[in-house]
This record gives sequence, structure tokens and C-alpha cells, in this order.
Amino acid sequence: MNGSNSIIKKVYLRLKNVLSSLLNKTCELCLEDNFDEGFLCADCENSLPQSQSRCQMCAIPLLSPGYCGQCLAHKPAFDLSHCNFNYGAPIDSWLHQLKDQRKTQWAQKLAQLMLLNPPPFLTEVDVFTFVPSTRWSLIKRGFNPGELITRELGRKLNKPVIAKLAKRSHGSEQKNLNRQQRINNVHKHFHSAGKQLNHQHIMLIDDVMTTGSTAHTMATILKVSGASKVSVWCFARTPKH
Ligand SMILES: [Zn+2]
Ligand SMILES: [Zn+2]
Repeated sequence: MNGSNSIIKKVYLRLKNVLSSLLNKTCELCLEDNFDEGFLCADCENSLPQSQSRCQMCAIPLLSPGYCGQCLAHKPAFDLSHCNFNYGAPIDSWLHQLKDQRKTQWAQKLAQLMLLNPPPFLTEVDVFTFVPSTRWSLIKRGFNPGELITRELGRKLNKPVIAKLAKRSHGSEQKNLNRQQRINNVHKHFHSAGKQLNHQHIMLIDDVMTTGSTAHTMATILKVSGASKVSVWCFARTPKH
């Protein structure tokens, strides 16, 4: 085969792959043909529950930019937060598929959506980390959903990911607890892993921030370990304190 034939064959194969992937691709939400990048069409992406303004510290939705009353009254141990979406349909069902139905491919998809609107302070961040799972939930589920999302973002953004900066003891599942129980529970069951952080800005990545008590406790531990700043990046935020 001469050189020009080989180039034509390569171009033909490449075009065939692109065309077939375009022709077979549908938006996973509206099921219409999707010619946009990603698993959602642009219209569905734009219709996801979002907020224009959030508290700069805890990312709770606000009517105008600034700080919420709760952060002004009791400053959390973390310094900044960024959140992509508000918790609600279809976000809840995607998280259910990842966490309860153990469809790990959703970690990549959620990370893909997070990358559409990354935190404005990302360049200041030295290291990514995630909230450790309890040993029981690791055994039950087989993976830590927050870790999968964090590692995917670390790969895409070329940031180091450090695991096990805190230890979590058994009995600290947050799912069925009310706000005050969550705060008490988190405080009791998270401990320092004894690692030394050299004045780094650590970003804690999580799927959902609810009361912020887990992020607050993790940030307290990270700062005692030497972090100069702790920020939070979460996929979804529950709308009210
Ligand atoms: Zn769509
Ligand atoms: Zn706040």
C-alpha cells in the first residue's frame, strides 16, 4: 500500500468512528439525539437545578452573592466552597444509581458535569482529598463514591489526590440522621490520621453537602494537620440549612 492510500484509509476509519458515535448517541435525560459533548444535550444540561448566587463559604443558595446568616454567626472551619447543582431531580436519581445501585460509571459522568463549571479558586489548590467511607460501607458497597469522583477530577485537572487524611470509625453513617444528630455524630467519629500537611491548600471533594458538618469536621482535622486553607467542591448542595 502506498502512502496516500494508507492516509485515505486512516481518514476513512476515523470518520466512520466519529459518524457512528454521533448517530448512536442520545441524551440520557430527554433521549433525543445528542450531537453535543457529554451524556446530556445542551438543553438538558442548562435545565439542571442550579443557583445564580451562593454563600461563598458554604455554597448554600442565596438571593445575592455574599455570606449566609449561619456562616456569619458560626464560621465553618473550611474557607471557601463551590457547588455545581442543587439537590433535586434528576440529580437525586443519578446519586442513587452511583451510591445504591453501585453503577460506578456515574462517578465519571458526575465529574464530567462538575468540570463544566469548576471552582474559580482552583488554581490556588495544591491537593484534592475526599471524605473517607466507614469500613462497613466500603465492605457493603465495594467503593467510596466520593473517592471515585475525586480521582476522576484529579486525573482530568492534573491535581494530586491524597487519601486517608482522616480516619472514620464505625457507626458514623449520616444518611438517616437529623441535622443535630449529624453534627454530633461527625464530631465523634472522625479523627486525625496523623499526616503532616505542609501549609497546603487542600480541596475536599464530595458528592453532596447537606449540613456542612462533615466538611467542617474534616477541615478542622486538616487544619490541625497543617493545611493553610481548606476549600470544598461538591456536586450537589441541599437547598436549606
Ligand atoms: Zn436532553
Ligand atoms: Zn454559608
